[in-house]
Amino acid sequence: MRNLLGGKGANLAEMCLLGMPVPAGFTITTETCTEYYALGCNYPQGLAEEVEKALKKTEEVMEARYGDPQNPLLLSCRSGARSSMPGMMETVLNIGLCAETIEGLIKKTDNPRFVYDAYRRLIMMYSDVVMEKAEGIEPEEGKGIRVQLDGLLQKMKSEKGYKSDTDLTAEDLKDLCDIFKAKVLEVLGTPFPDNAMEQLWGSIGAVLKSWNGKRAIAYRRIEGIPDEWGTAVTVQSMVYGNMGENSATGVAFSRNPATGEPKFYGEWLMDAQGEDVVAGIRTPNPLNEATKTDQTRHMPSLESVMPKAYDELDQIQKNLEVHFRDMQDIEFTIQEGRLWMLQCRVGKRTGVAALNMAMDMLQEGLIDRKTAVMRVAPAQLDELLHPILDSNSEKKAKVVAKGLPAGPGGAVGQIVFTAEDAVAWHSQGKRVILVREETNPEDVEGMRVADGLLTARGGMTSHAALVARGWGKCAIVGCEAVHLDVGRRVMTINGKEYPEGTVFSLNGTRGFVYDTKVETMDASENPRFKEFMDIVDSFRTMGVRANADTPEDAQTALDFGAEGIGLFRIEHMFYGLNAEAPLSKLRKIILSENAEERQQAINELAPYVKVAAKETLRVMDGLPLTFRLLDPPLHEFVPQTLDKQKELAEELNISVEEVIRRSDLLKEINPMMGHRGVRLGISYPEISEMQIRAIFSATAELIKEGLNPIPEIMVPVTLSVKELDHQKIICDRVHKEVEEQFGLSFTYVYGTMIEIPRATLLADEMARNAEFFSFGTNDLTQMTYGFSRDDIGSFLGEYLDKKIIPFDPFQHIDEESVGKLMETAVEKGRSANPDIELGICGEHGGDPQSVYFCYKLGLTYVSCSPFRIPIARLAAAQAAITSPNS
Ligand code: ADP
Ligand code: MG
Ligand code: MG
Repeated sequence: MRNLLGGKGANLAEMCLLGMPVPAGFTITTETCTEYYALGCNYPQGLAEEVEKALKKTEEVMEARYGDPQNPLLLSCRSGARSSMPGMMETVLNIGLCAETIEGLIKKTDNPRFVYDAYRRLIMMYSDVVMEKAEGIEPEEGKGIRVQLDGLLQKMKSEKGYKSDTDLTAEDLKDLCDIFKAKVLEVLGTPFPDNAMEQLWGSIGAVLKSWNGKRAIAYRRIEGIPDEWGTAVTVQSMVYGNMGENSATGVAFSRNPATGEPKFYGEWLMDAQGEDVVAGIRTPNPLNEATKTDQTRHMPSLESVMPKAYDELDQIQKNLEVHFRDMQDIEFTIQEGRLWMLQCRVGKRTGVAALNMAMDMLQEGLIDRKTAVMRVAPAQLDELLHPILDSNSEKKAKVVAKGLPAGPGGAVGQIVFTAEDAVAWHSQGKRVILVREETNPEDVEGMRVADGLLTARGGMTSHAALVARGWGKCAIVGCEAVHLDVGRRVMTINGKEYPEGTVFSLNGTRGFVYDTKVETMDASENPRFKEFMDIVDSFRTMGVRANADTPEDAQTALDFGAEGIGLFRIEHMFYGLNAEAPLSKLRKIILSENAEERQQAINELAPYVKVAAKETLRVMDGLPLTFRLLDPPLHEFVPQTLDKQKELAEELNISVEEVIRRSDLLKEINPMMGHRGVRLGISYPEISEMQIRAIFSATAELIKEGLNPIPEIMVPVTLSVKELDHQKIICDRVHKEVEEQFGLSFTYVYGTMIEIPRATLLADEMARNAEFFSFGTNDLTQMTYGFSRDDIGSFLGEYLDKKIIPFDPFQHIDEESVGKLMETAVEKGRSANPDIELGICGEHGGDPQSVYFCYKLGLTYVSCSPFRIPIARLAAAQAAITSPNS
């Protein structure tokens, strides 16, 4: 019932049903939250009565009463959305402490230190969450009530010479509570409420409001969680991990979320409350002996300190894993030796861990092959292909500090100390490592753009570590050698100062920090990667091809599992490596002013095109290779610098002025809709002919060598079948000539890109002279939206912020518009030519969500850049598995 109760509420109920020890409580539904907002932040009718009833039942189970002076029950008020948003919303603990109940609780527990510890926590959380955030107060940086109260706590500790919060005595804490309350009144202008019911409703309202808190909204944007879902509110009896040395609290995973290692793994703190572990106030201890590392060897494990509670917890985590058939992320508290479960959910994990867990669980028989395929998100594969530090280069560098390896992989970048700086530097194209004192969920946007994260405090389960892992980001936390002076913008490690902007390298897999640039390399393939991809392919029905324009790219694509090339852009030989010679020939063609001049230049370019075609066909032996005829507007290739203009003037035997004059003639106001694509081939059939002859000659030569080339000719930017007819005549004539010249016969496939809306609407006609369509969804999106691909940056952000469009249509296919056009083209194309092959070669071909859509459309294949091929393969397999007719 996660949609109704939120993930947290639903799983707490589930654990109850499984007979596990869960403190009693109830959950206010997500629907209530939606209604609350619809009513302009007012509680729906009947809520008060229902809460009262549910509270009564809770009181009966716990044998204590909320607000009762003799036998007081305390509550927690917890947020929980459908999908987990770690640390992004609010929770208030120890609700119900006020003058009356404090006395009662002290009598009942005979533990005043515990009671005042709980009280100071309540004051801090409540004033922050309910009195400040929920009231919409936005204090300046460092002036928030929580920070100010924390300052008072630190001040008391340092005045008394205490190291840890646990050194504070009952008297200290009692004084602190008074100091806190005075400060709250001073800063916020209202007294801290001394009434249990007021506290409860204040908390419920604040948790509901936290759904629209700044952090929560930012996180939803990034994760694509709809604003309408709302949060549930779980009201639950408190259990106390802060009652002394036989009490504790902790967070655990049934398997290691960073590596996938099948060992129970986690962190705990003695005499503490839950958020201490996740907020990084003290550095937590390892859960058990088996998972200790060099950094944690000296610390006490729960297994050794509280063996009985540990054993019970261990059994519960095993049961939960079998029940949910997936890795569990668990929160627990031990009150005076007795274990209580406070949360379980399917744990977030890195790509590496996702892969390893899927394969392990498959072997263990916990899941079947289909489930294993579904367990790795296509985007996570990206991480597996992400860089790590080059171990040779790393050996030469000196480790300046060590921390906890919270997010694997390597990162190199300039250090910055605030999330705002990370965002600002990133937008200037710099790679940054965000260094923070402690992990703080308010930094999400900075964390998102940083290449790596480094924090001085916090554990493996801190919020930042969770978020970083979820994003596959390199992160090191709890690196205690790091001292920050954010004001002076310097970081100090072992007495050495590093100003903002210094280049650092992180090894997030081992927790090593370097103060120099270490080289990075692509992660070597996980040995299980291939095995996994084989299973993936066994479910996949749609083909996957690559967009590749060189023999090298073609080889990479093959290594990643491409089944052909769906887009070879002839013009790519005019960019990048070794482009100079062919480019100068092309420029001659472009600027020639008569047929004779042009033909000569064309003849000079032909050998280059043939070599490029031949060597790529060679690599792709036996697999289809789609050559797209010259596509971009010619002016793109016109020389811009005087040097190049001079060079060309000499070649053409004309003056520089003449070169400039002829170049100017080519200028177009709207080149994307100008003289490009097939239009060039219509104006200059000799340019098409040269490309086609080069491709067919390369084919014939390879056949002579005994190879099996499969060339496909693709005509770009078409809008009428007449264009196809026109170019086909050239193809057929050249084909015949080449066959005769080489004395052999071969076939080729002829088709077109579909990237102009008109072509989609007339696809039945187009299909009359096309054996395949390949959707060019970049241009199709551009022309459907009337958005210039190259200029969208100036307004896209605003369009997204104002919710005029829900996402960037160049990232995901817009199924409502572009997708509709594709659907039309598919139907019409098939009606005219039932055997027509259908593919896609725009950037969308590597976007999982768009791949799903292509599967639904029944495309023959998707084509994407080589590095995205595993992602497309996985997305295609998942589409096949989840499709209703599979
Ligand atoms: P989040 O969604 O940020 O994890 P939670 O609602 O899980 O927030 O609360 C944070 C922490 O507060 C938990 O890890 C847990 O340890 C502690 N906590 C919440 N409810 C209770 C409770 N009823 N008794 C004791 N501790 C609690
Ligand atoms: Mg939690
Ligand atoms: Mg195009």
